[in-house]
Amino acid sequence: MSFCKCFHFFIIILQVFAAIAIFSLADSSLTQNQLFTNFLDTAKKPEFFDWMVKIRRKIHQFPELRYEEFETSKVIRTELDKLGIPYKHPVAVTGVIGFIGTGKSPFVAIRADMDALPIQELVEWEHMSQVPGKMHACGHDAHTTMLLGAAKILKQHEQEINGTVVLVFQPGEEGGAGAKKILESGALKNVSAIFGLHVLPTLPVGEVASRSGPMMAGNGRFEAIINGKGGHAAIPHTSIDPVLAASNVVISLQYLVSREADPLDSQVVTVAKFQGGGALNVIPDYVIIGGTFRSFSTESLEHLRQRVEQVIVGQAAVQRCNATVNFLDEASPSYPPTINDGGLHEQFRDVAENLLGANKVHFDKPPVTASEDFSFYQKVIPGYFFFLGMQKASNDHRAHFVHSPYLVINEEGLPYGAALHASLAVNYLEKYLQDGPMAEGKYRDEL
Ligand SMILES: [Zn+2]
Ligand SMILES: [Zn+2]
Repeated sequence: MSFCKCFHFFIIILQVFAAIAIFSLADSSLTQNQLFTNFLDTAKKPEFFDWMVKIRRKIHQFPELRYEEFETSKVIRTELDKLGIPYKHPVAVTGVIGFIGTGKSPFVAIRADMDALPIQELVEWEHMSQVPGKMHACGHDAHTTMLLGAAKILKQHEQEINGTVVLVFQPGEEGGAGAKKILESGALKNVSAIFGLHVLPTLPVGEVASRSGPMMAGNGRFEAIINGKGGHAAIPHTSIDPVLAASNVVISLQYLVSREADPLDSQVVTVAKFQGGGALNVIPDYVIIGGTFRSFSTESLEHLRQRVEQVIVGQAAVQRCNATVNFLDEASPSYPPTINDGGLHEQFRDVAENLLGANKVHFDKPPVTASEDFSFYQKVIPGYFFFLGMQKASNDHRAHFVHSPYLVINEEGLPYGAALHASLAVNYLEKYLQDGPMAEGKYRDEL
């Protein structure tokens, strides 16, 4: 063989190898898309769907408030036992952390919250809350169910998981900062990324919405006692009137957003509580006010917290009152803003668009000033949070939002949440092995 022929032969061999490589790549990506479609088809099968609906209704009928999710936790552990999935319990009082896959790194977490709200359900239906004054009015019953759905799917495909999926069933999202307690337990210390979702009763089933960067506000709460000196309402000059002082405090707090905050840096200060006195002819000794402040950056939130205290104390002093401010850090810790990781956003886009179709995935959703304790995870682990459509009927513009006693969610959305959880976890681990972490996570061998 001449040099020339030999060279040509070499080129042909190279081309064949290149073709095989390209074919395998295309084939593997095709296989993964098919796998995720298969996840969704599995979750929609009548037997699987009915199993999820049954679990959701059971949890819905017996709602438990933050850190009291003992029976809900038991339901989760019973199902994990049946599926043969190992777990840690208790974590953060009632939390359960499950594991599927090799047991080795990389680790990716998918999370659901378990707690209900102190609301009396006003929806009359066969499976309404059986506990007076408590209701799953934020859809956490559906979140827990969908994570169990994802667990069932992933267990069936355990051999195809290149790493470990960590299932996080957390307590106390509603004001209890359960996510913070899960992190403090150390259960997630080597997790490279975390995904979470929230039902959205105003978005059609089969659709999702999210965005890169700030998505939900951080929040803080405050309560202040403004002390004056009570007396007869007819001789106010002998009193120090805390009602008038508190009224001026409320007005002065409004300037924090309207005059001090950058108009392009959205913030909220709301005084929602104002209590003082009782008789119509008595100036009371004190007034209690309270409320919430919110922003989309940690810096602005911290600034608001400082200014809220300064304004309350300073403005009260103008009218000779003493004020003390409590930020309720123990009872109701401040939540950071929910900020989605850019790399995970691209991954979510790929997975969701392939699974649902590009027209069902919305990235134009404006940020919302509600808060979510998923943000605690995002402070230490790259994380991604998205909304899942659970509208009762298409084009139902009268759908009640979460935290309403009239909330109704569409259970047809359950398979989508389960399949998306499972797909995002598998996809993340695949991409991690191919390209390294999509965000600046940690890499260690043991969890
Ligand atoms: Zn809620
Ligand atoms: Zn919620």
